[in-house]
Amino acid sequence: MSETIFAKIIRREIPAEIVYEDDLALAFKDINPQAPTHILVIPKKPLPQLDAATDEDEALLGHLLLVAKQVAAQLGLSNGYRLAINNGQDGGQTVFHLHLHLLGGRSLKWPPG
Ligand code: AMP
Repeated sequence: MSETIFAKIIRREIPAEIVYEDDLALAFKDINPQAPTHILVIPKKPLPQLDAATDEDEALLGHLLLVAKQVAAQLGLSNGYRLAINNGQDGGQTVFHLHLHLLGGRSLKWPPG
């Protein structure tokens, strides 16, 4: 798998505004925010996309959801928020390191474009 910019963020080779870190996951501010709060929650394991996850990743995927919930609370998103995973070309994925978008701070429309 080719190296992504997120791998460099994990290794602190490029800067990011990190809001949460543990042994398995990292959360940092999206560089091009689509809402007042826009955080990316990523596994440290370099899974390229959700489609690449296997049964072995079940606990990790659950962990990422719990991290997202915790970061949402930490950032005061008490009125709600959205989690999104873009998978592959039609999903609009541009960085091939699995990430959850955590969006909040405004009323979000549905369906997304
Ligand atoms: P996606 O289109 O779902 O693959 O989302 C990739 C996201 O990564 C986009 O929202 C970008 O704005 C964001 N992004 C790209 N490079 C960086 C970076 N260096 N730091 C923070 N976010 C980034």
